[in-house]
Amino acid sequence: MEFSNLQRQTMFTESDAADRLPKAVACANHIGQINRDIAVEPEVADVNHSNIEGLIANADVVLDGTDNFATRYLINDACVKHEVDWIYGAAVGSYGVTMTIRPHQTPCLRCIFPEAPPAASSPTCDTAGVIMPIISVVAAVQVSEALKLLTGSLESLHGSLMQFDVWQNDWRRISLRAPSDDCATCALHKYETLDVESGEFAAVMCGRHAVQVSPATTVHVDLAALGRKLESAGEVKSNDYLLRFRTGEYELTVFRDARSIIRGTDDIALARSLYSKYIGN
Ligand SMILES: [Zn+2]
Repeated sequence: MEFSNLQRQTMFTESDAADRLPKAVACANHIGQINRDIAVEPEVADVNHSNIEGLIANADVVLDGTDNFATRYLINDACVKHEVDWIYGAAVGSYGVTMTIRPHQTPCLRCIFPEAPPAASSPTCDTAGVIMPIISVVAAVQVSEALKLLTGSLESLHGSLMQFDVWQNDWRRISLRAPSDDCATCALHKYETLDVESGEFAAVMCGRHAVQVSPATTVHVDLAALGRKLESAGEVKSNDYLLRFRTGEYELTVFRDARSIIRGTDDIALARSLYSKYIGN
């Protein structure tokens, strides 16, 4: 949780950012303050090919709150494979889009977008930012659709690709028909994002001047021991969920599953070398 996120989010406070709480934990705490009878199971993890199928197992519906196409194709593959309904939602600038996917009954994300838009072809949160009201509009439609799915009110689903621009005052719906006959996911049952070789994964984080590095295999990091090791090399702060280590112009945030966010660079090679230098492989 970071201070720069707070203006566009409704679930977090300045004290969450000051305490450096992971979003999943801060979110669970706030839901607990609203209604203590709701059972929440926060997961502090990077969703990827190795854990997505476990995360969606037994889910009645999955809501997309991600910020990149790679993760959405991953959700799409897992949800179509296991026939779990999911609700795509995205926003950039003042524009937003949402679509409800019922595997094998409605078009899936890949039926509509067979390929991700090429890099740099469209605005991203790096170049355009995002304003809070469009996130609320997209989220409101997603949650309404989730309520319809959960209550079996399938006739009320909007059945379209819904697009909004709260600055241009443009609202439109494109009606959806059946799944595509030649969709790699729906028709050919190829789940390419799930079938990748296991390996270390590193990616530049949108608009953050930071790189996320995830190790090839899930390991449990003893954050206290790591903190003692790093104390002589820089400033260390930690809580139950993460450790933050600052050295020179870089700041490394390490989670208990060894996933790390390296701030101060957009260079994946440099981030990997900082990771192996301070955290190890
Ligand atoms: Zn499809």
